[in-house]
Amino acid sequence: MKKIGIIICGRYHHCAGGKCLRALRNREGAFALYRGEDVDLVGYTTCGGCPGGNVEYAPAEMKKNGAEIIHLATGLVVGYPPCPRLQTFCEFIPEKFGLEVVIGTHPIPENYYRTHRALGTWQSSRWQKHIQHVLVDETIRLAYD
Ligand code: SF4
Repeated sequence: MKKIGIIICGRYHHCAGGKCLRALRNREGAFALYRGEDVDLVGYTTCGGCPGGNVEYAPAEMKKNGAEIIHLATGLVVGYPPCPRLQTFCEFIPEKFGLEVVIGTHPIPENYYRTHRALGTWQSSRWQKHIQHVLVDETIRLAYD
């Protein structure tokens, strides 16, 4: 049983989590990492809005609930612009809380994929690594539009 927490971008703070929860149920996007495993979602919150102050506290609460892995939601990589603090969060959370970080939750939707591809957002090897778990084939991208 894997216990996970999800932190979403504060720009989408009204989001009800539909895509993330669907992807978790279907083991799609970053949740494909857990195919064949049970997963318990033990926390879900926002970063608190720029500059992401809630990241300083939320993982501790999730850890108390048993979280081992924090997923930084796909909104952090598909938003315009993508979160400028992504790398900071990826370094801070393991260092401060001893928790693993996975970038992404649900698959990248097709409309975001097309725009970022045109913009060249994810061309660098660093970004390719960042989106590795959520860049899926077109059929699934379209299903998450
Ligand atoms: S861009 Fe980053 S810091 Fe700003 S609200 Fe989104 S996740 Fe938080």
